Amino acid sequence: MNNQYSIKTNSKGRNILIVKGILPIDEICDIKAEDFDVIYVEDTNQSHFELSYQLQQMSPFHSLKCHLKPRFLSSSLENRTLNLKPLIDGFSTTIDDKNMCKKIEEIYNRLEMIEAFDIAEVKNNNYMYFLKLCKFAISRKMFTFTDSIEEAYAMGHTALYAAKKNNIPIKMNDDFFRFNHVLLELGYAKKKSFVERLHVCPHCMNSHLFYMESCPKCDSSNLKEEAVLHHFRCANISPESSYTYDGELRCPKCHHFLRHIGVDYDKPSNVYTCQECNHTFLHTDMKVYCSSCKKTHRPSELLAYDVYSYEYTPEGLLALSNNDAVISVSKDIWAGYSNFESFLSQIRLFSYSHEKSESIFINKFKIEGNDTTPQKIMQIVDDFQKRFYYNNISFKRNYIFMATKCPSELSEGLKRQIEEEHEEMLKIIELKHPEIIITEQDYLHQQAEEKIQTFIERINKTN
Ligand SMILES: [Zn+2]
Ligand SMILES: [Zn+2]
Ligand SMILES: [Zn+2]
Repeated sequence: MNNQYSIKTNSKGRNILIVKGILPIDEICDIKAEDFDVIYVEDTNQSHFELSYQLQQMSPFHSLKCHLKPRFLSSSLENRTLNLKPLIDGFSTTIDDKNMCKKIEEIYNRLEMIEAFDIAEVKNNNYMYFLKLCKFAISRKMFTFTDSIEEAYAMGHTALYAAKKNNIPIKMNDDFFRFNHVLLELGYAKKKSFVERLHVCPHCMNSHLFYMESCPKCDSSNLKEEAVLHHFRCANISPESSYTYDGELRCPKCHHFLRHIGVDYDKPSNVYTCQECNHTFLHTDMKVYCSSCKKTHRPSELLAYDVYSYEYTPEGLLALSNNDAVISVSKDIWAGYSNFESFLSQIRLFSYSHEKSESIFINKFKIEGNDTTPQKIMQIVDDFQKRFYYNNISFKRNYIFMATKCPSELSEGLKRQIEEEHEEMLKIIELKHPEIIITEQDYLHQQAEEKIQTFIERINKTN
């Protein structure tokens, strides 16, 4: 294993992890996060794909040990980097390269102003991932971004996102666009300038489109294009192929031979003949095939999409650097049903907030009785969701959890009020579903000094 990496110290006292192969850094116990400040990948003749895989193992967003750390590549790897370039801080021939040393210090200066999250806690959430991209972008002085994930037009944190877009599901793209929109709504970013107008697939918003000429009658693109000949003598107009006669040109109507263009005849235009249905026409239709969703559209159906560049505002820079943005952007995703894992993840996110004036209040109870199938539990969750639409609702086996935000200094009066609302609803549920009974009902409220992990353990505790 040791020949896969080594650690050396540069002239500024930074420890450089020199990577010589595929190194699953997070799984190697011998390498601790504090053992290295910088990552440097050597050229070991790896292909672009191997390099891509290597970089995944040391992701600035997903790897616990590599989070936000500077990453450099051997200069000779530059032309194999391709779409991964936005994820790289630079190239150098040696780890003592002056520019590399300087850049490392610059990044660390900026990182001092950035509050990292405990990424082990929050990796399961798209918005959290996007926030990590923003943090990385800010630490690299990328203050401008675009809203197009097309490699050619992607800038800033969008370029970081686009670097891996081939592996990204469409649903995540939707979330990403919404996230950028939320940044604007919150005043964290503002429009800077127009970049380009693109035409995208109306179905999936992708712009990897193939334009094909097609037959207006049957839509086939099996077309033959040829000149139309106009015979002056008899005024016949028909495709060139109808004039071919024994290697010469002879008019199909009056049977005279055609000798001189401009004198006997001319070629006023071209004509298309469909090889499938034999239809002849002057103007082809156009169809557009989307390489992403495999649907075919008319050009007029494509959506014009204006790409703009945006820049973070001073408030945005501050909120994205510390963790205030976490809660403001995740407000949108708070309410409603989520699976248990995301439910816990959202509660963790909340605890990263700087808005210490709010905390979380949870109503937790167990469903017992004759019918405790997942379908039944889901029905009950649904009933609660309609009544408490502003709550975050989830279930784990036959335990149901309903989380609501409340002031952290929860007065007895308000506490009573929340509890009464819930108790009333629990009674309604028991009346509506006589086959079940509600047991182990409990209210959980995060105490002022309680660590999030302790609170999560209390939520998680089921019999
Ligand atoms: Zn046709
Ligand atoms: Zn003729
Ligand atoms: Zn599409």
